[in-house]
Amino acid sequence: MIPNQRGADRGRWRDLPGRYGEWPSVKRPGQRACTARDRVLSGRMTPRRKTHQICIGDERTGIVKIGGGLPHRDGTPTTAAPVSVQTMTAGYTHEIDKCVAEINRMAAGGADIVRVAVPEQKDTEALKEILPQVRVPIVADVHFHFKRALEAVESGVHKIRLNPGNITDRAQVIDVIQACKARGIPIRVGVNEGSIIERKDKQKRMKELGAVFSEQKHGYLLAIMITKLEEYLDIFYEQDFHDIAISAKSMDASIVIDAYTEISKRFDHPLHLGVTHAGPKETGTIRSVAALGGLLINGIGDTIRFSYANDPIFEVEDGLELLYSLSLRERIGVDLIACPTCGRIQVDLFTLIQDVRKQLASTIQLPLKVAVMGCIVNGPGEAEGADVAVFAGDRRGIIYVQGEKVANVPEEEILSRLLAECLAFQDKVRRGEAKLGDKKVAIIPPDPLGELGSGLEKIASGNVEKISRSVAALTVGQS
Ligand code: SF4
Repeated sequence: MIPNQRGADRGRWRDLPGRYGEWPSVKRPGQRACTARDRVLSGRMTPRRKTHQICIGDERTGIVKIGGGLPHRDGTPTTAAPVSVQTMTAGYTHEIDKCVAEINRMAAGGADIVRVAVPEQKDTEALKEILPQVRVPIVADVHFHFKRALEAVESGVHKIRLNPGNITDRAQVIDVIQACKARGIPIRVGVNEGSIIERKDKQKRMKELGAVFSEQKHGYLLAIMITKLEEYLDIFYEQDFHDIAISAKSMDASIVIDAYTEISKRFDHPLHLGVTHAGPKETGTIRSVAALGGLLINGIGDTIRFSYANDPIFEVEDGLELLYSLSLRERIGVDLIACPTCGRIQVDLFTLIQDVRKQLASTIQLPLKVAVMGCIVNGPGEAEGADVAVFAGDRRGIIYVQGEKVANVPEEEILSRLLAECLAFQDKVRRGEAKLGDKKVAIIPPDPLGELGSGLEKIASGNVEKISRSVAALTVGQS
């Protein structure tokens, strides 16, 4: 059994030998909970697949490395770069001011790389004015017209995306490869399920691969995708071009998992993960997390893009959150823990959580762990593991900073006091007077009994007055 690190079950694993139960080997001084990184160390999360590394960007934007672990072709060793987050602008590239503003907003939100569409020459022309105004590497998304790729390279773009489904002429592909080679620009070969075309002359190879994948639900499709990639990449290899990333997207999460898993066994280029046309954010999140999370846990994936029919800033936020959750990136900003509430609640916690989330997002840059909990059942446990925490009772909340109680305030003061404590704690950490993750006092339930005007006796007796929860606060993440 994996021991529960939080909540009412804490007592169970506390009694196990070693602080972390069945994972004693990953315990480190000051560590509060087992993380995905620990699972990597203990073999529970597959280490990242080694790939050749590509680099995109320039001196002005900074260089973003993708993949790594295998030596460069000249023998220089590389180490795996952090998994990067990409998005794509939703507006027209030729509307220069709007495009610059959108790119800069994505970069400010945490995007490492931004892609733009270049369907017309006026778009590739616009890149000449856009590139000097942005501070994040830009990828030109090219479909159908190989000349757009040549123009984008000429304009100084940092990377090209080609679709083997719609730029198929060998001579044209070679022109693009040579242009990118001359400028040291990588190319992503992006096979999309929706745009691959079955070619008659590849029937033999597809038959072979079809037999290899015959046990798999999507065997025939995988055979087409891999055949297409092999055929296309041969052109690159013949030109001695190896600055390549690969993607193989579908709107079906299970196809995405199968396709990338098979591709990861056959090619050592970095992989750009994504579920294409994932739909509105509400369902697109589930599809993307199901596919990308599964692959990343298995060590597959070097850069990711969520694609939503929504403001692309959500793609960036959710992509980062996935990487934070898997400990594949160092968190920037607050790690917010909150209970889902239940029939024991005696404050309007939904509203409180949303207010805390919004206000901390703009004021806290350090990865503070902040817990907002509804009652003493799980509140003390989470407060113990957090840097700053509140757990509520009968229209009151007790606030803790690293395990030390600092306030017991009425409901209407919880938000302001919690924010003040978070800011003060962040300042202390910056001055070197406190350390994230330290804890001075163990909070042993039921320590707060009585102080909250509720406590276990009241909860146990069922004598809990109903409060009205703000349903509006349920529209999470749209601000
Ligand atoms: Fe858990 Fe208490 Fe929140 Fe209910 S109100 S979910 S018991 S912490």
